[in-house]
Amino acid sequence: MSPPYPVNPPLAEPKGINLINVIHLGPEIREGGVSQSFVCISCMHCVDAPCIRSCPTSAIYKDSETNITLVNRERCIGCRSCLWVCPFGAPSFGVEGKLLLCDICIDRIKEGKKTACEAACVARAIITATPEEIAEMKARKASKRIAQA
Ligand code: SF4
Ligand code: SF4
Ligand code: SF4
Repeated sequence: MSPPYPVNPPLAEPKGINLINVIHLGPEIREGGVSQSFVCISCMHCVDAPCIRSCPTSAIYKDSETNITLVNRERCIGCRSCLWVCPFGAPSFGVEGKLLLCDICIDRIKEGKKTACEAACVARAIITATPEEIAEMKARKASKRIAQA
């Protein structure tokens, strides 16, 4: 299948290290129209994070205040065990071969700001929220769907 459908211009392809992997699904014909979607995957800051258990040097740890998963890069030896166990393929490695992980812009979050990617996303596709806020959003969406049925 060839365009016309919206595609990224060639120069818009990300360069360097990606803390967010964007997976492109489609395009496909669905219900008579062309459909495609994009899934953003970065570190999910798992509550019981397997990467922390797998790290032989304890380079990965939780921020005691926010429970955000953080990396002490001085301790990282680049063994990539964390990549093998991460269910989301989130760990990235820079030129030094040391782990790089999305830290949910912890400094901005602590200042009460949105993450940089959330603030930059023109489609408002990225939302950073607590599990309680996400549950609330889901409940609101579900009741809207029921009301429209
Ligand atoms: S790197 Fe992977 S396993 Fe570790 S907290 Fe992030 S998503 Fe979870
Ligand atoms: S690559 Fe670094 S952070 Fe990941 S498991 Fe190995 S030492 Fe730990
Ligand atoms: S939350 Fe911050 S560190 Fe994580 S991907 Fe977005 S901009 Fe990068």
